[in-house]
Order: sequence, then structure tokens, then C-alpha cells
Amino acid sequence: MWQGIHGHDAVVERFRQSLKHGRLAASFLFLGPVGVGKHLFAVKLAQALLCQQGGAGSLEPCGQCDSCLLALAGNHPDLDLVGLPTGKRILPIKLFVGDDQHRHREGLCYNISRRPQMGKRRVAIIDDADHFNHASANCLLKTLEEPPAGAVIILIGTSRGRQLPTILSRTQTVRFAPLEDETVRHLLLEKQIASDATQADQLALACGGSLRKAAALVDPELWEMRQRLLPQFIPSRFDSVRLAKELIAFVNQAGKEAEARRQRLRSLLQMVANHFRHLLRTASTPEDAESAILEGSLEQNACKIDEILAILDRCLEAEIQLDRNANQASLLECWLDDLASIFAACPHEFALK
Ligand SMILES: [Zn+2]
Repeated sequence: MWQGIHGHDAVVERFRQSLKHGRLAASFLFLGPVGVGKHLFAVKLAQALLCQQGGAGSLEPCGQCDSCLLALAGNHPDLDLVGLPTGKRILPIKLFVGDDQHRHREGLCYNISRRPQMGKRRVAIIDDADHFNHASANCLLKTLEEPPAGAVIILIGTSRGRQLPTILSRTQTVRFAPLEDETVRHLLLEKQIASDATQADQLALACGGSLRKAAALVDPELWEMRQRLLPQFIPSRFDSVRLAKELIAFVNQAGKEAEARRQRLRSLLQMVANHFRHLLRTASTPEDAESAILEGSLEQNACKIDEILAILDRCLEAEIQLDRNANQASLLECWLDDLASIFAACPHEFALK
């Protein structure tokens, strides 16, 4: 394991090899689900790149030099960290080129163009890269195209579909997979998010490989809703009108703050998506396909997989609409209506595990 990072050995190896051969790219786009450790990975990589003791081709920061200590404390003068400000849904351009009074004299693009204060390079980490708009992406393009010597810029987002083509074409994509159930289980206990092994097991199975989603499910109200909700997501029991009423009430119970309600709705959407992702994994095993062939039901099985994919697409779309501040009640109603249509198109029952 590298630097306490669980579950991303292939990514570690990729960076180790590029550094060893002096072929490190200047800009990366880390993509993968939330809560799998992309940000932590980026910070550790920055620490290694800025360490004053490790050699130029080393991925091992010493952890003790001034540079390492400052990077770990989030205070390194050559490390810029930016992300979505609280309450905002778009990365503002001032993060990159300074505000009106300090245009091109402040911000990430200015900082990274300056001579490093402590070492040989500067590093920038941009969280929430799903939230660029054309204006903020345009501010960054020139820096991505012609980065200063040695500079490394790491953008962190969730999926390719949420990135602008201008960003995609100028960065090297690095994919982070969901964490294995066993890794999540271990981390939940290590970080004392789960109170015991039983809860850790339950959360690990339900969270779709994301530690952040697992932590959200610790909320007893959300967990209880999950247990009540998911058995209703099968064609014979699905009643979109009744579910919409129940879920809108549940979201409103999160409190007066818009952000709390948005977070609860996001948790619901992700909970349903994780459930179907789990079904997809169990439906697409070779044994499953083999028994389907033997029973002459392959067609039916393929139909089930298509439906699950359609449901997953629709859940992702709903999450994007939520980010765009769509009306939450209409979003829920339309989402459930569309799921009802998907269920209605095929009579096959979804097995509950
Ligand atoms: Zn060091």
C-alpha cells in the first residue's frame, strides 16, 4: 500500500512508472465515484512531487522535510488547492484569474506561473471539476496547454460525461474504481464510522464502493428509509405516485436549509443507483449467463440488464439535474415516472438480494 491509500494500486504503479522514466504529464483529470480517495491521492502525489528529500523520480515523500509538513498541513506555498465554494454550483472564474480588482494578478493560473518558493515545481489541485462552466474552463485552458516547466495540475471529477470537451482534450485521464467491499469495511472500522463489524458489513454492501456514501448511510433515518424503499423498486410493487409523495416528505424533513434537503435527495438517488449497480454486478457474472443459457432464458436476462442500465442512466441524469438546481419535487416525480416506464417495458422481476 502506498501512503495509506487503499484500493488504487494500479494508479500508484502508473505514477511510479511515469516518474521513474521522467515522463510525468503536466495535467491530469482524476475521475471516479465520490468518496473513493481521489482527493487524498492527489494530495499525497503533490506531497511526493514537492518533497525536498525524495529524488526527482521518486513517488515516496519523506514525510519529515519542511515541504512535506507544509503540504500535509495544507499550507505549502507551491501547492494551490481550489474547489467549489460553499453554496455555489459553478467554479467561479476568480479562482483561476483573480477577482475584478486583481484580474491576472491572483488565482490559480497566476500562482502556478510564478517561480516556486521552496522547490523545483508548483502543483495545483482542482476539486469539483464537474462544476466548470465554459467561462471558468476557458480561464484555465491556456495554463493547461502551456503549463510552466515542472508544474503539475490535477483536476478531480466524477465522470467523463460531466466534463467539457476542452478540458478532456487537454488532460490525461486517470480512472479511480469504486473501492472493494472489503476495503470499505476495513476503512469504516478503522475510521470508526461504523460502530461494529455488523454495521460495517451492511454499509459496505450498500454504499457502492464509496466511503462518503457509506458515511451518509450511518444516518439512522436514511438507513431506515433505505430498508423500506428498496423492496418497492420492483415492477410489481412500484407505485411512482405514492413513492413521490413519500420521498418529497422525507426530503423536506431534512430541514429548512436548501443544502440539507439537496444532500438528502442526493443520498436517495445514490442509494437507488447503488442498489441497481449491485444487481447489475450479480446479473452479469459468467455463471449467471451460463445458467440463463441452460434455462433458455438468456433473452430475458439481457432484457433485465438493459433495464438496469437504463435505470442507472436515469439516476445519474437526476443527480445532474439536482446539481443544476432543478425543482426537487418535480425532479423526484419525473425520475419516478421514468423509472415506472422502464419497469413497465419489461415484466421481468428484479431479484432482491
Ligand atoms: Zn519530504
